[in-house]
Amino acid sequence: MEHNSEIVAEGKLIADTTYLDRARKYTELAIEGIKIDFYDAKNRVVHEVKKSDKVEQAHLAQVKYYLAVLSRNCIEAPEAIIEYPKLKQREFLKWSESFVKEAEEWEAKAAAIIQSEHCPELIQKGICKKCAYYELCYIEEI
Ligand code: SF4
Repeated sequence: MEHNSEIVAEGKLIADTTYLDRARKYTELAIEGIKIDFYDAKNRVVHEVKKSDKVEQAHLAQVKYYLAVLSRNCIEAPEAIIEYPKLKQREFLKWSESFVKEAEEWEAKAAAIIQSEHCPELIQKGICKKCAYYELCYIEEI
């Protein structure tokens, strides 16, 4: 759903206009259903830019998942930097083997939801308004 999301587009615009030489220095990487906008292949570092004005657990989880996917595709001990231009702050994420187990647990939960005959209940949290899936989750049958 991210291709339809204005919020995702806004985040990409901030990333593209804040770090002007980034697209030249780093590569876009699409693998196993994830898309990393800025990957420094030489140093094995993911650069993730967040437009948010606060550090959220979901940002860390997203990047941990990226690192787990890279690891199982033979990238040794990948790391990440999450950058918050609005906060002028960076979060550094060092590689940990625990990311692999966490990623497997998340995948198992996602698979269980996908295979279920029933949609899960709406969580109805504030984060939903910023989620790319908002329209899909909150659509109402007429
Ligand atoms: S909009 Fe849907 S997918 Fe997004 S956080 Fe809310 S319940 Fe989850």
